[in-house]
Amino acid sequence: MVTPKINAPQQASGTDWQELLVGQDDLWAGLRDAAAAGTLPHLILLAGLPGNVQLPMAVALAQVLLCSGGHKPCGGCNHCRLVQKLVHPDLHFSFPLAKSKELCVNHYAKWRSVLQKTPFMDLPDWFAGLGEEGTQANIAVAEVQSILERLLLRPFNAACKVMLIWLPEYLGKESNRLLKIFEEAPQHTFILLVTSNPDALLSTVRSRAQLFRVKAVSPETIATYLQTHAGAEQDAAWQAALLADGKLQNALNLLGTRSTDMMDRLRQLFIAAYQYNPLEISEWVEWFSKLHREDQKQFIQWMLGLLSFVLRRKYAPVLAGDDGGNALHQYIGKLAVSLNTRQAEVISDAANDCLDGIQQNANVRLLMTDFSIALSHTLKRKHEQLTNIN
Ligand SMILES: [Zn+2]
Repeated sequence: MVTPKINAPQQASGTDWQELLVGQDDLWAGLRDAAAAGTLPHLILLAGLPGNVQLPMAVALAQVLLCSGGHKPCGGCNHCRLVQKLVHPDLHFSFPLAKSKELCVNHYAKWRSVLQKTPFMDLPDWFAGLGEEGTQANIAVAEVQSILERLLLRPFNAACKVMLIWLPEYLGKESNRLLKIFEEAPQHTFILLVTSNPDALLSTVRSRAQLFRVKAVSPETIATYLQTHAGAEQDAAWQAALLADGKLQNALNLLGTRSTDMMDRLRQLFIAAYQYNPLEISEWVEWFSKLHREDQKQFIQWMLGLLSFVLRRKYAPVLAGDDGGNALHQYIGKLAVSLNTRQAEVISDAANDCLDGIQQNANVRLLMTDFSIALSHTLKRKHEQLTNIN
């Protein structure tokens, strides 16, 4: 009797990067087949929304390029195992740092642990892991020199080597020093640029690389992923998925929050602002200002996600996952009736300003008091349409 082969991913042996490529079947199949067949261009640019799957996709692609097995990535060869743990000697990384004299190679241990913990990470996730939150990011001249040196190394024990540069937009004009090597990469070398803002790259870099775009992930796909891979309950998965704006890291971050509490708090604020009740507004502002800064940011991001769904709901009366019984869907529906498009946009703009202010360490009490007053004016402006705000 043949024992069935079990292919379940094992955390202890590293990350199954392919498994993280949520909602990207077509793009991934094309890239994987080209890499396995040896027809992948030597310089590629993977672009996606911040917090989407472009970074795990680049690592998975590196695994295909480095794998020595038959069906690449085989998952079982030594090369695959080393990539799963991000320790393959022919897989090099470069990424933004806060201090211009530092080199990425000296931060690899941190990089590995943060990337394995938050594989869909955006720059703030990385800087939080690095303990450099709120500092200016860059890929400076010393690191560019290190990229050049590492690109000239011969492959150590694989058939090729891979340089993954995350967020090359932070190279700025230093990228000019890499143009020649981008144009003519050394033999057996692949350079994977992973960006969330391709427009911020110098046109000289963009024109040399072949661009592949990672799709925003649909709420349905995110909700399924959260249930099957993150152990979320159906309702929590849907709440996070609906507000994640197509970004998986957002969805995972939102899973840890209690949306019901946020909805109650938002409802309180809207009612207090609509009634222009100074006492309740100031109590609300007091509550908000005592939250941890990360929770303040998360609340505003959550509100922004909700407002974008309110706007979408105005054009598409039924949203995916809307079975009528979900409290969040019901609230979105109510707001879509109560607010006109202009009001939702004005409130979103004001909320975005709050987010910027919080990120820049502004006085949160003043910031949110101003926001509440602006909210009050905006809600009053269309009095006749606001009979159903609570
Ligand atoms: Zn392999």
